[in-house]
Amino acid sequence: MVVALLDSSPEAFAEHLVSELGTRRAFAVTDPKRGRVLVSHASLQPLADFLERERRDFHDHEGLFFEVGQDCGVLMAAVIHSTRRGNSQGGLRYWPYPTTETFVRDGLRLAQGMTRKNALAGIWWGGGKGLIARGPDDRWRDPTFRARLYQEYGRFTTSLGGCYVTAEDAGTRAEDMESVFATTRFTTCIPPRLGGSGNPSPATALGVVRAMEGALDHLGLGTLEGKRVAMQGTGNVAAAMIGDLLAAGVAGIVASEISSERATWVRTRYADAGGRLEVRVVERGDHSILGEACDILAPNALGGVLNPDTIPKVQTTIICGAANNQLLDEQRDAEALRARGIVYVPDFLCNRMGIVSCANEQYGRLPDDPAIQQHLGRAWANAVFNVTKRALELAEAERITTASAANRLADSLAQVEHPIWGHRGQAIISSLVATHWERGVS
Ligand code: NAD
Repeated sequence: MVVALLDSSPEAFAEHLVSELGTRRAFAVTDPKRGRVLVSHASLQPLADFLERERRDFHDHEGLFFEVGQDCGVLMAAVIHSTRRGNSQGGLRYWPYPTTETFVRDGLRLAQGMTRKNALAGIWWGGGKGLIARGPDDRWRDPTFRARLYQEYGRFTTSLGGCYVTAEDAGTRAEDMESVFATTRFTTCIPPRLGGSGNPSPATALGVVRAMEGALDHLGLGTLEGKRVAMQGTGNVAAAMIGDLLAAGVAGIVASEISSERATWVRTRYADAGGRLEVRVVERGDHSILGEACDILAPNALGGVLNPDTIPKVQTTIICGAANNQLLDEQRDAEALRARGIVYVPDFLCNRMGIVSCANEQYGRLPDDPAIQQHLGRAWANAVFNVTKRALELAEAERITTASAANRLADSLAQVEHPIWGHRGQAIISSLVATHWERGVS
């Protein structure tokens, strides 16, 4: 039955929980002693079987918690990959999913990605992901509905006792985080007027630039001075990056942008670039910028742009950009880039500053915060520059892709337990199971 449900919509799964099982909550957790998946309801055993069989996206995730909100009736989830380095943290995605399986798989994949991103960044967080299934109706456009929905997600997060700490992600806006914060303390990325860290884009841009410098240094190509950079997109991160690159003395930047208004804004902002900046307005499907001859290519707009169509056309030495999930297929496309001798800096390594800048909001803010700045310098072993070099060296030494090398470094760091709290998140998950969390709302 559940296997069939995995093929049906998240709305049908929610309906099944409420009408057939008479519950609004369900979970599947990995039993830390036996390594088997336990489910909250016997009839969800096929979900446990699916996870245990599934080796692509499920990697002994510590827990998956589902709730059908009492107020909005929408399926929400928190997917927890690891809490070894600290409670799991990762953004909340509000997205339409055709099936429950795609909903679950997205959560599994993204949660593991957050374990790796956080570990590689040297921050004391595990990895998790929040999901809200966006229905086929238009309610997601209504601000009043959104406020109720995100408050409901906040209550759900509170019920998890802190083993998952949420944040902003695709489909979620700054104002939604305010609603989440109204009903839970277990969130980061709240607006500055409530004590949060604000727009992370300038820090993200600088982090990517530090990774570019690490890659150049690794290749013995000196500094950014005199280099040519091509970039896709001139949005929040890219616009800040243009300023950083011009300040570093690059010879030229050519950028593509689908919005002519945005292109005009960027040209005006850097009117003093003295001919070193060209912004081309392109059609949405035009990826010709990826074939531009340059020293560094920075995909700063969309995921999936490095694929069998585009990789053969790439004419660069280094690829290093802010966009998430640049490789359409991580293994295949990383291998194709390696075969072409192109050094690809994995996105989850170089765009870490988005999460870093909001991750530790609870410790307060300082001007030129040393907790943030250490990522952008060279003194700290986990600084972006140093980790980039370490991953590229490992890839070269082991003859593996840079993505595999970065994953290997990340997976090893992810095993290190929090220096103060140990594996407390696992204890929280076990307590939720022992106290029948699933019976909490009816
Ligand atoms: P953004 O929406 O401000 O910028 C994206 C820009 O790309 C927009 O100006 C858009 O018009 C343009 N664009 C879209 N499709 C294009 C195409 N086919 N060709 C050329 N231009 C195109 O987003 P952002 O905050 O700058 O983030 C950029 C990327 O970096 C995203 O993938 C995001 O997930 C990732 N990222 C951002 C942060 C952050 O701190 N903002 C952190 C980590 C990762």
